[in-house]
Amino acid sequence: MKGSRGSIKWKLMLLYAVLVVIVIIVIGIYMIGKIRRNLYQSRYQEMQYTAGRISDTVELAYGAGEQDLTEVFTKVVTGILTESGNREGLLLYLLSPQGEMLYSREGSLSPADLSSRTILGAVNGQESAELYVHEAVYDEETRIVGDYALPVFRGSEIWYILMLRQSLSDIQGTIRSNALIILMASLIAIAISSLLAYLLAVGIAHPLERLTRRTQEMARGNLDAAEEMTEKSGSSDEIEELETNFSYMAGELKRMLSEASSEKNKLETIFHHMADGLMVFDYDGKVAQCNPAATELIGKGIHGLSFGDIFPEESFEEFLHAPEGRIRQRTLELDGQSIRAEFAAYANEVGEAEGLIVVLQDVTEQHHVEEMQREFVANVSHELRTPITTVKSYVETILEGEIREEETLTGFLQVIDQESDRMTALIAELLELSRIDNRQVQLAMKRENLTEVLADCVRRYRIHADKKHQQLIMGADCPALPVRCDRARMEQVIGNILINAINYSADGAVITAWSTLNPEAHEGALHIQDTGMGIPYKEQRRIFERFYRIDKARSRSSGGTGLGLAIAKEMMEMHHGRIELDSVPGKGSTFHLILPLMDGEEAEDEEI
Ligand code: ADP
Repeated sequence: MKGSRGSIKWKLMLLYAVLVVIVIIVIGIYMIGKIRRNLYQSRYQEMQYTAGRISDTVELAYGAGEQDLTEVFTKVVTGILTESGNREGLLLYLLSPQGEMLYSREGSLSPADLSSRTILGAVNGQESAELYVHEAVYDEETRIVGDYALPVFRGSEIWYILMLRQSLSDIQGTIRSNALIILMASLIAIAISSLLAYLLAVGIAHPLERLTRRTQEMARGNLDAAEEMTEKSGSSDEIEELETNFSYMAGELKRMLSEASSEKNKLETIFHHMADGLMVFDYDGKVAQCNPAATELIGKGIHGLSFGDIFPEESFEEFLHAPEGRIRQRTLELDGQSIRAEFAAYANEVGEAEGLIVVLQDVTEQHHVEEMQREFVANVSHELRTPITTVKSYVETILEGEIREEETLTGFLQVIDQESDRMTALIAELLELSRIDNRQVQLAMKRENLTEVLADCVRRYRIHADKKHQQLIMGADCPALPVRCDRARMEQVIGNILINAINYSADGAVITAWSTLNPEAHEGALHIQDTGMGIPYKEQRRIFERFYRIDKARSRSSGGTGLGLAIAKEMMEMHHGRIELDSVPGKGSTFHLILPLMDGEEAEDEEI
């Protein structure tokens, strides 16, 4: 990462430096070439001038009577060179019009020199247009020399050819020193431009590095750092604009992520706290997710299980490939619980099924209520049909006029009367329960001594006990129990318990009623104990259910409806109290009616 971050800086620097070096080299080569050309040109002009002077002087001298060209030439040359001191180290050659050497001052020309383009040009009557630069032995050394040849005419004929040669070492030296200067200047320029290149590269690379760091922060999830605005350089160039856009983008991303995360949190909270169980199965039918409610409903650790482990009777494939939007429902029985399961497949962006979502609802209670309602209706119909059938058959028998004896007729009419009473009682109790269910019962709450209410009931019901030669007795030393209650309703409850005690105990049995005070719990209790048949343990909880009777025939024959205890329980609860039972089958039962005691000076009369 670091290398790639640094590389843009170095690339920029290298590019800049290479460009500068190329430019400097091109300029250097151009300058040196130009200098060389200028120096050669001026040397050429000097040599042309010297040749002109020599040829002019030779012509004059020749005209003055000197007839030997070589002689004249030698004199003239010696004179001119002596005059100028021959500082330039000029070599002079006199050639015939055919290019043969007639005279040379120092050294001679090689055959190659004689056939050079300079001499060939001169033989053809052309003066050298520029210096012919080449290597030649000069001063016993091989040096770079420049040649110049001038054909001198007499009339239209070439009279002789004058050739000049001069070493160019001094020019070479000048060029070298100039090249050195240019090289030095180039090095300085390269150094300065490298520094500038570095500064430029840093200037460009630094914001890019900053941006890179921020993208890395962003990749690590640190959006705050990515969003942070950098100090403005004021240049407002593209990079700065890029940084601003990047900050904006990071900010937007942060906002979107925070929205997404709060959505996710919301869904997770719903997922974890919803009352319905939720399970998500992946494409292979394995549990991918489930909420605590699902675990509780299924009753075992769900993680790692497959669809078949949880729903052995259902086909995962069938639900998975069900048409989109179709929700399938099943009601399953799991460990005595009724669970309604809804199966819906979920798809990916291209609409392919990815897995299954199962919503579980515990409908046990609902089923139970429905079951109870069904049972209740069946019970009510049955309870009403039995006396009506009895009444109808007795009435039909009477109407047939077959009964002659008055005694039998009276017996029949008594049965009809009893059955009518039972129906009336049943209907009255049903109405009472319906009023309780609909919260239509109004209690006339008053301060009462519950012990006194019990004693009153005992006195009133003793007549029923007497019929069975039973003893209904009130316990001694019962404490006063100040409570707030609807006296008539409490008498109804106590009466129900007492009647049951009498009905479900044998003749001659003893039934005892007494009261106790529980100051710690701030409660008072009435206890009614019989020595009757008792209630089997498994039925003890159920006898408070509507129409629940252990022995239907016995209950019916004693005028029971199976609703008495259900009403008593509801009444006690309406008084903020409760009813409890202790019973040993075959030995007898004790019912406890418990009510909260009244606080000191509470309001006297009140209706609820
Ligand atoms: P019922 O009108 O049949 O008496 P209840 O609701 O009063 O209806 O009582 C429900 C059932 O509880 C009775 O049918 C009876 O089987 C049982 N039961 C109630 N009280 C006693 C008791 N003291 N001893 C034995 N069984 C009792």
